[in-house]
Amino acid sequence: MKIIMLGAPGAGKGTQAKMIADKYGIPHISTGDIFRANIKEGTELGQKAKTYMDQGLLVPDELVVDLVVDRVGKEDCANGYVLDGFPRTIPQAESLDAALDKLGEKIDFALNVEVPDENIVNRMSGRRACVSCGATYHIVHIPTKVEGICDRCGSELILRDDDKPETVQKRLGVYHEQTQPLIDYYKAKEVLVEVDGTKDMQDVFTDIVNILGA
Ligand code: ADP
Ligand code: AMP
Repeated sequence: MKIIMLGAPGAGKGTQAKMIADKYGIPHISTGDIFRANIKEGTELGQKAKTYMDQGLLVPDELVVDLVVDRVGKEDCANGYVLDGFPRTIPQAESLDAALDKLGEKIDFALNVEVPDENIVNRMSGRRACVSCGATYHIVHIPTKVEGICDRCGSELILRDDDKPETVQKRLGVYHEQTQPLIDYYKAKEVLVEVDGTKDMQDVFTDIVNILGA
């Protein structure tokens, strides 16, 4: 099962993608996580990506497309995967389709997690991410058992630099301009499914399982 998560930054794509990956036993591929891991390791890719991420801009297509095309060609993706944060532009979607075409494969579901802009700033200013395992929480909606400490691995939680309000506004603008057109792109391919992302995390997941099948 090959799944793409669509939706604004902070809509809950990563939260749901992790749950989907666990339930269906498929890899969760987050381009944002890949870039953040590269930044942490100080790689050249990380240094390049950081200059764009810090400004709330998209990393150029040429830095992200090959990386994802390589990743989905790996053996652990043979039974499917859930892509989170990719594609984010029409050229990225077209490159992915071209690569899948060559393999005789296609995307099965593009899940559009819908959350209005007015909820997004709250979601992102309350988001806390684990410095070590990348798990995400929300200080009000999805709190940890001990404040500031990851439930999964016990490491410290941080507010992402790009979740500060001024960057969030920029990222929302970039989303509407460059990523939202993907909704029509996948609608035309008859794989788009709308998901109400304003519900509780578990209720959103129940809706998704009803779409994907148990
Ligand atoms: P995205 O991957 O789309 O950027 P996340 O999955 O990181 O978004 O979610 C953004 C923030 O909203 C996080 O703090 C997360 O814990 C919280 N969140 C996710 N799903 C829900 C939900 N259904 N209700 C309330 N908060 C949520
Ligand atoms: P995310 O973790 O998905 O919110 O991504 C964080 C940041 O990484 C984004 O704001 C972009 O700067 C960058 N990024 C992640 N995925 C992509 C992508 N597919 N194309 C371009 N930039 C991306």
